[in-house]
Amino acid sequence: MKIVVVGAGVAGVAAAELLQRYPGNRVTLIEAKSQIGTGASMDQHGWFHMGSLYSIQSLEESVTSAVKNVRILTRYYESYVNQETAEPGNRNRNTWFVDEPISYLFPGGWHLPYDVRQGAYSKELDGFLHFSKDIVSAGAALGQLLKFNRVWSGVKIVSSDLPMRTKKILDDLVCSFQTNGGDIRLSSKYLSHGSTAAGGVKVTLVDGTTVHADVCVVCSGEQLASCGWNAHRLVVRRSPIMVVTPALCNENIVVVEAKDHASFSHIVHSHRGQRYSVVSGAYSADVGDEEGSHRAAMLLKQVTRTHFPSRFDASSHELYFGTKVDRLHREDRRDYSPTIVELERNVIGAIPGKFSFAFLLAHNLALRVMEGKDIPSSTALSGRRDTAMVATPKHELVAAALLQARRSLQMDRDRPGYKLDEAASNLDDVRSAR
Ligand SMILES: Cc1cc2nc3c(=O)[nH]c(=O)nc-3n(C[C@H](O)[C@H](O)[C@H](O)COP(=O)(O)OP(=O)(O)OC[C@H]3O[C@@H](n4cnc5c(N)ncnc54)[C@H](O)[C@@H]3O)c2cc1C
Repeated sequence: MKIVVVGAGVAGVAAAELLQRYPGNRVTLIEAKSQIGTGASMDQHGWFHMGSLYSIQSLEESVTSAVKNVRILTRYYESYVNQETAEPGNRNRNTWFVDEPISYLFPGGWHLPYDVRQGAYSKELDGFLHFSKDIVSAGAALGQLLKFNRVWSGVKIVSSDLPMRTKKILDDLVCSFQTNGGDIRLSSKYLSHGSTAAGGVKVTLVDGTTVHADVCVVCSGEQLASCGWNAHRLVVRRSPIMVVTPALCNENIVVVEAKDHASFSHIVHSHRGQRYSVVSGAYSADVGDEEGSHRAAMLLKQVTRTHFPSRFDASSHELYFGTKVDRLHREDRRDYSPTIVELERNVIGAIPGKFSFAFLLAHNLALRVMEGKDIPSSTALSGRRDTAMVATPKHELVAAALLQARRSLQMDRDRPGYKLDEAASNLDDVRSAR
């Protein structure tokens, strides 16, 4: 079967990779930009949702999706997830996940739906997550325990969610896709499509070339939203993310506040051995709403300062926006479940909801396109790799510039003006690269 996948974010890459595993399939992955993963997939903060948070919050559909997603990961991607390098001292750098769990903090007064100490939700997640951490809970003076500036009390849950190495995941999927015979066309923007007399699809690109296929899968939420497919209740929002160096603290934490307050997430990543914080919160604005975006950014800064006043003020930070596309599900509630919509005959739209859920999305898509035929396994990881083909996560680019700016300042205190200009121009480069 000939299949065209439009959009090489995690959704398109994961879908294309699974579809290309079937003998006889010929998948063409079309990406508008000159690299893979330059959209939301590289703007995000690298937090892989195994489902812990959703289950604590009783988001039933989300936790069901997360559990299915993890089952799919262990079933179809085992060799990828556990990949290790023989290089001494480098053992962890090649795995998809960083082996440092994400803790959820529930400040005092927040009423949990049930007693987490009974491990009420762990039964859903336990048993098949051989790479997960145990789920435990503890009551403590959390602020002091975590060396926060803020003093509070509540419950801390060490979850099975983990930070992810986004680029590593995409590098492996792309390598497998190409080794299995998949075709990638970069700098190729989808413009329109039509049906052919034989019942297939003709996809026209902006440069006028066409690609013929039996099925076309559109894996770009923004493209779907801008194409009049908004009847499917797509919501496009801009959301700020802030990179802070040095890291504000060494733990991955998500502060889950009471309903009226936005939650706050803090994930630690590293660049060349230097740890930095990637912080975010439930702040967003409609695309085009400059005032709302500014407000969201200010709120994120404010809440970061509330949690770490002295460390935040002594740090360097830089903020950028990512664009999220979600679909409203029942009762206007976001449940983050992946969405697959039949747009027309042989034309399918697909949105993962979360980077983490792209595996469930790809699995469901593959079974739908291949009419339920079992997905073949793939261990095609030893093929030729062009790591420059996949973009670097935005937070890493920003952190690299911030770290370099800090280093320059330290190295040449006599000429701070010159170095500050240089640091500012590094950051300008990062900003204008977008
Ligand atoms: C600020 C922020 C933080 C987030 N944090 C997390 C997180 O921590 N964990 C998590 O799991 N999820 C997170 N998410 C959500 C996650 O990033 C997205 O759900 C996921 O990356 C979407 O993947 P995608 O492949 O659908 O979209 P994208 O990555 O945006 O891919 C779409 C691709 O389609 C291409 N494209 C667009 N139009 C065309 C066209 N006409 N022709 C060809 N190509 C086209 C684009 O260039 C792009 O490469 C976050 C999102 C944001 C914005």
